[in-house]
Amino acid sequence: MDQDLRDIRLTGLKGKVQHYGWGGVDYLPALLGVANPGREPFAEYWMGSHPLGNALLPEIGEGITLGDWIARHPERTLSQPVFRQFGGLPFLLKILDVREMLSIQVHPTRDAAAAGYADEEARGIPLNAHNRNYKDTNHKPEIMLAISEFWLLHGFKELSQIELILDSVPEFNVFLPLFRKEGFKSLYQFVMEMDQSDLDVLFLPLVKREIRMKREGLLDRSQPGWWVAKLFEGKTEIKTIDRGIFSIYCFNIVQLQPGEGIFQAAGIPHAYLEGQNVELMSNSDNVLRGGLTNKHIDVPELLKHISFEAVKPVILKGEAVLDGERVFHCPVPDFSIAQIQGSAGYHYQSSAQTIEIWVVTEGAFVVNQERVIRQGEAVVVFPGFTYSLNSSGPAVLYRAFVPITVNPQHEEN
Ligand SMILES: [Zn+2]
Repeated sequence: MDQDLRDIRLTGLKGKVQHYGWGGVDYLPALLGVANPGREPFAEYWMGSHPLGNALLPEIGEGITLGDWIARHPERTLSQPVFRQFGGLPFLLKILDVREMLSIQVHPTRDAAAAGYADEEARGIPLNAHNRNYKDTNHKPEIMLAISEFWLLHGFKELSQIELILDSVPEFNVFLPLFRKEGFKSLYQFVMEMDQSDLDVLFLPLVKREIRMKREGLLDRSQPGWWVAKLFEGKTEIKTIDRGIFSIYCFNIVQLQPGEGIFQAAGIPHAYLEGQNVELMSNSDNVLRGGLTNKHIDVPELLKHISFEAVKPVILKGEAVLDGERVFHCPVPDFSIAQIQGSAGYHYQSSAQTIEIWVVTEGAFVVNQERVIRQGEAVVVFPGFTYSLNSSGPAVLYRAFVPITVNPQHEEN
């Protein structure tokens, strides 16, 4: 079988849906064309070879995963330079539908991940333990491109803005002396380590006020209070208050329009708030959490890796390369992503240098005049594939690839 199939340069890819509780119930089922009669949350659609969601290649064989296929033909599938540098597929492509906000998180650098992993292994903490921080030795930078209007938290505000907030929110006034004397990092640590009952008493009036103001239409999504109030919507009583709400006031609240992107480098705290996006990251699961979650929070470890430097969010628009294509370059060797926007009579021509994963989120494209890829469909493309894309109306395709410059001497035959 392999003899005939190993020369395949494009094949259909069936990803894996993750039903995390924060996911929406409509967007992904409609995109993928699957029924969701039980209104189950469809949070993420994974297109990659991660062990927790290894995509299937049904045209190659029943039950064959992308990971299997890469392991069987690593150089033919990845390209020789990608195989040499990474040993496997370096990225994981996802589509997300965020209905409820995600946890506040930070990702470590590759060196920190390797050291953290080795340390936890040495201390005998099982990989699946609740208090395990490092699941692998890799970094996990991420880029996301908004499909809908998208809201997220990204990096800390300027210290002067934080001071203004501590001064203007009555419940935070008590924090001002510590902030002025020891700085923001000390204050953040203090809040992260505060006794839960003290925190509930202090923050309850604030939460109640934000809920009332949102109900009265006095808040919008650009204000922290809107998101704090949203956390408690549909709850009849407020029992405990997640300390993560303090961070909502200290982070930049960023709004992206469809087609805009943002990159999350190591150390930048972030949290997705609402909307749909395409996300591309290194093939890793290393997340340190800082609130708005029931998962493990390791405050000392978080403080070691979080960047307290103020961040001015950089909204990416991509670089126009070929007609209708915008490439979003990322400051990592692991991945890059392009958006291809088709229209009536659209024609695009290129060739794949490395493994690529494509997904169509709108309309349809015809590949090499013979194969149609429709909305919700994904394919994997192998190096050496020369192709044309045509569309007859509005259509959007995302193309994830490895931005490697292929040395002709290493190119495969
Ligand atoms: Zn993240």
